[in-house]
Amino acid sequence: MWVKVQRHPLCADSSLYPAHSHISGTNNGNQRTFRPKKSAPSGSKGAQLRKHIDATLGSGNLREAVRLPPGEDIHEWLAVNTVDFFNQVNLLYGTLTEFCTPENCPTMTAGPKYEYRWADGVQIKKPIEVSAPKYVEYLMDWIESQLDDESLFPQRLGAPFPPNFRDVVKTIFKRLFRVYAHIYHSHFQKIVSLKEEAHLNTCFKHFILFTCEFGLIDKKELAPLQELIESIVVPY
Ligand SMILES: [Zn+2]
Repeated sequence: MWVKVQRHPLCADSSLYPAHSHISGTNNGNQRTFRPKKSAPSGSKGAQLRKHIDATLGSGNLREAVRLPPGEDIHEWLAVNTVDFFNQVNLLYGTLTEFCTPENCPTMTAGPKYEYRWADGVQIKKPIEVSAPKYVEYLMDWIESQLDDESLFPQRLGAPFPPNFRDVVKTIFKRLFRVYAHIYHSHFQKIVSLKEEAHLNTCFKHFILFTCEFGLIDKKELAPLQELIESIVVPY
């Protein structure tokens, strides 16, 4: 199913973030999702946390927006945000699918020094070299299967999270980062010509501030975008 979805309000180019219409709303007509958007886990609890995210984003303060709201469960907070970040990357990459082709991007790189090979540790144990679009397809399919697994991301209110939940989230973040790294290194000019750079930068900034707040990605994994990350994190 291919659907058109509005731009995430957080990632709007404008500095004014609407505090509503996070999920539904009008299509802006020029974005196509790479795959259908996922809804948040944990039912009404997720909806409540989402309201909180929208309200804090509405203030325009990303650093405040990533913080665990007082009295909330860290797992619920990680879960809701993980779904959001997956949807953002999905939308961003979705605008590039006609440019990120096996011909243009025969390998999944992040600049000249970094190349990623795919392995999921289950079906593909030995890392294989695949084109960037194939890599992103494997990666997003893998994340989607994690988000759909109720033993990892419980949908029911009050259902327990697994003991390894944080590790699952960390692997998802590590992999989402690779899509950002590829976009910045291989498709930034295209992003600029699509006038999407403010949108991309805001999404990435939110992603990195969240990552730093909860220590979700090892420093060495962040190396391909180190300078950009320093420019985001240091000013605070
Ligand atoms: Zn590409």
